[in-house]
Amino acid sequence: MAIERTLSIIKPNAVAKDAIGAILGRFEAAGLKIVAARMLHMSREQASAFYAIHQGKPFFDELVDFMISGPVMVQVLEGEDAVAKNREIMGATNPAQAAPGTIRADFADSFTENAVHGSDSPENAAVEIAFFFPEGVCPRTR
Ligand code: GDP
Ligand code: MG
Repeated sequence: MAIERTLSIIKPNAVAKDAIGAILGRFEAAGLKIVAARMLHMSREQASAFYAIHQGKPFFDELVDFMISGPVMVQVLEGEDAVAKNREIMGATNPAQAAPGTIRADFADSFTENAVHGSDSPENAAVEIAFFFPEGVCPRTR
C-alpha cells in the first residue's frame, strides 16, 4: 500500500460543537498524520468552487450556505491508503447510514451537516490539497 495524502475538512457544525480536537484525535489514532492545517471562513465563491462538481444538484445551495455558515478546519492527512482510510473512519455520507463509531455517526447533525469532508480519490485529493494549500505542504521529518 502506498503512502498517500488526502484533504479533510471539519465542517462548520462540528467546529461549532467544539469537536475539532476529538476529530483530529481520531485521525491520529487511525495512523493518519496531520501534515498541514488551517482554519478559515470560506467565501461563497470559494465554497462554490470547491464543490463545483455538485453544481446543479438539489442539495448544492443548502450545502454552500452551510459551508459558509461558520469557520472550517482544513487539514492534509498523510498515511498508508490515506484516502480510503479517512473515508472509512468518516462513515457514510448520509449519517443515518454511517456505521457506529464513525465520525459522522458521532458528530453529524443531518445529511447536509455531516461533520467532515474527505477526498474521494488520490487524484481529487491532489486538486483539493492545492485548492487550500497552494504554497505546498512540507513533509513530516519525524
Ligand atoms: P461526501 O464525499 O461523502 O462528502 O459526499 P458527496 O461528495 O456526495 O457530497 C458532498 C456533500 O454534500 C456531502 O458531504 C453532504 O454534506 C452533501 N450531500 C450529498 N448528498 C446529499 C443529499 O442527498 N442530501 C443532502 N441534504 N446533502 C447531501
Ligand atoms: Mg465527495
